[in-house]
Amino acid sequence: MGNIKKEDILEILDGYDKENITIATLGSHTSLHILKGAKDEGFRTAIVCEKGREVPYQRFNVADEYIIVDEFKDIVNEEVQEQLRAMNAIVVPHGSFVAYAGLENVEDKFNVPMFGNRDILRWEAERDKERQLLVEGNVRIPFKYDNPEEIDRPVMVKFPGARGGRGYFVASSTEEFNEKIATMKERGWLDDEDAAQAHIEEYVSGCNYCIHYFYSALDDTVEVMGMDTRYESSIDGFVRMPAKDQLDIPLTPSYVVTGNHPAVIRESLLPQVFEMGDKLTESAKKLVAPGLNGPFCMQTLVNDNLEVICFEISARTDGGTNTFMDSSPYSFLTYGKPMSMGRRIALEIKNGIERGELEKIIT
Ligand code: ADP
Repeated sequence: MGNIKKEDILEILDGYDKENITIATLGSHTSLHILKGAKDEGFRTAIVCEKGREVPYQRFNVADEYIIVDEFKDIVNEEVQEQLRAMNAIVVPHGSFVAYAGLENVEDKFNVPMFGNRDILRWEAERDKERQLLVEGNVRIPFKYDNPEEIDRPVMVKFPGARGGRGYFVASSTEEFNEKIATMKERGWLDDEDAAQAHIEEYVSGCNYCIHYFYSALDDTVEVMGMDTRYESSIDGFVRMPAKDQLDIPLTPSYVVTGNHPAVIRESLLPQVFEMGDKLTESAKKLVAPGLNGPFCMQTLVNDNLEVICFEISARTDGGTNTFMDSSPYSFLTYGKPMSMGRRIALEIKNGIERGELEKIIT
């Protein structure tokens, strides 16, 4: 895919001192538990941090080394890459790393060993590819409409790019869809190109569970590590208003994640939870080998028929893993000791080093 070839990365890894690996990441998103987990597994840690954003890392004392940059995207600068390689760094990607560094730069310029599967990041970023992974795996997803004329029940309308749900809307008929698109264009919120790419899917009325899995490529196992639900602005504030007032206020809710709540799901739903994680793991192995190495997340809605329906995936550590920086009920069941997602990643790297199989989990 990109210019960075696995052979070149493995050559760099060959030159690393495996007794002195540093686990590094960009200072944002899920970096606190990535670095704390790495420390707990005995690694040195480094953070690439935007100037002025050091405070949480210093106060929580999770980083041994700081590489301070003017802007997050400077992580792809040659000098920064050089510093990282000099400390035998394995970089753990997360949502902000991909967003700030830029997908093309990660694929074409970032010549530093990374944990996981570099190629899969594009598959979660592009809605068609993401859907292909889910369809190939036969995972239950919201019904998709190819044409607004076919709208026959409430639908959720989404637009290209990660917008945190900004501008997404709900409609119940073709007329309502057309009206809302026209209003958004009038207000300058939507251009013709994005409007033409409107993604229309069945509105799933249900409860949100974001399920955090870890696929170990070393052991070929899928673990459920934890779950969260999102606390989204403005929708979660909006629903605290009495219905009468909601009707009076011309507010279009957005779904911008501002935080997360830990969650557990009904025990009787766990077979579905494991089954869908296994299915996605298998389809990812087929479509973008070696697959979903490491953390991934399935964002789901559970309806009143108790069906778990997946509307989005992350193919790297998801922000909701911050709800279990110590442990989740599920990771405790598996490990019987504190196990965050960050620590699980570090454990996989440690196992890879001990078994001489790092090449299976580094990209
Ligand atoms: P983004 O990735 O741009 O943030 P998402 O696809 O995660 O957007 O959707 C944002 C929010 O919209 C979700 O957290 C969920 O609350 C809601 N949502 C998304 N898809 C559906 C759907 N099909 N039915 C009902 N609600 C949905």
